Amino acid sequence: MSSDITPESLPPVPESSESSWRRATSVVHAGRTIDRETGAVVPPIHLSTTFARGPDAQLAGDFCYSRSGNPNRAELEQCVASLEGGSEAAAFASGSAAANAILQSLHPGDRVLSSRDLYHGVRSLMEKVTTRSGVACESIDLQDAAVVERELERGARVVWCETPANPQLHVIDLENLSLRCRAAGATLVVDNTFATPMLQRPLGNGAALVVHATTKYLAGHSDVTGGVVVTDDPASDLWQRIREVQTLAGSVPSPFDCWLALRGISTLHVRMKQHVENAVVLARRFEDHEVVGRVLFPGLESHPDHALASRQMSGPGGVLSIRLKAGEEGARRFTSRLTWIPRATSLGGVHTLVEHRMLVEPEGSPVPPDLVRISVGIEDAEDLWVEFDRALS
Ligand SMILES: *Cc1c(COP(=O)(O)O)cnc(C)c1O
Repeated sequence: MSSDITPESLPPVPESSESSWRRATSVVHAGRTIDRETGAVVPPIHLSTTFARGPDAQLAGDFCYSRSGNPNRAELEQCVASLEGGSEAAAFASGSAAANAILQSLHPGDRVLSSRDLYHGVRSLMEKVTTRSGVACESIDLQDAAVVERELERGARVVWCETPANPQLHVIDLENLSLRCRAAGATLVVDNTFATPMLQRPLGNGAALVVHATTKYLAGHSDVTGGVVVTDDPASDLWQRIREVQTLAGSVPSPFDCWLALRGISTLHVRMKQHVENAVVLARRFEDHEVVGRVLFPGLESHPDHALASRQMSGPGGVLSIRLKAGEEGARRFTSRLTWIPRATSLGGVHTLVEHRMLVEPEGSPVPPDLVRISVGIEDAEDLWVEFDRALS
């Protein structure tokens, strides 16, 4: 170790600079500090499950045992909280575990209203697991103000909203919904996985909690599973219960998973620009193609929520869905003809992924059988189009 690196010569980044950073800086720096022992610029991975006490039982830092807290997890949590404009975050082993922590912090008799268009895993989690604890979970049309008003009047503890929603890319007016929730005493939870904090920050629109599958855009390379919940009210009872579920139930990410997610986040700003740019190019080409019936993408003027998306988001995202004129068979043919673009579930990674959604949606899903979802990667848009055009012809 070089003798001129001492803890004293490496002051931690002052809090004030972190809060004033723009997001392109935060993705690289938020939550990280130069390692005071070694000067390492990239955070070391702390695999230790336990942290030693001094002679008077005092701990050296904030950590005691890795299920309740770990330096890599703390760095990831601080970074995501900062990106979302929140004050605290709790990281989990998957996006589903993050969602489950919120749902498990509810009480028997509580009622959860969610959008009809919802990631099917979270929908199944609510229906199969959450309801077993006496929490009622119902899906309604969150785009219909009269329905929302009526259902809120009947009483709801939580409104769960995904926007843009998977996989039909409906957009929900967060400002409006959060006002209604507040008036009715309901907690608005927004799954911000599709937009990421680069394009939309729901806490600023009045949401109480933001949830992410970091598995998708935040980590961004399809190589680590994780989730996170963010709050701007860490003193609330709800947040205390979510922390209890995290540390007592222990569905926590490994230090290496946290490190990978944080490493991925470093490039979130530049990746999202490319995802959006490519998706806009492809959406227009699909829209002009004669075998494509509809393109569902909030970046297109033809999308019913285009004006709202342009107001609420700083970019339309990188996921689009197309509906083939030849129906289910057309969707099957299109996907089967792809040569180098993988047919695979998931989204938000650097690789473009294509999925005939019907294959994974559960019975009774509102998703049409002719729908193909495309998570547009960061490859060259022209190369992607050559492959898509060939598969469509
Ligand atoms: C993938 C996903 C989840 C669940 O995340 P996992 O890490 O797969 O558990 C939740 N919400 C949305 C919108 C997703 O795309």
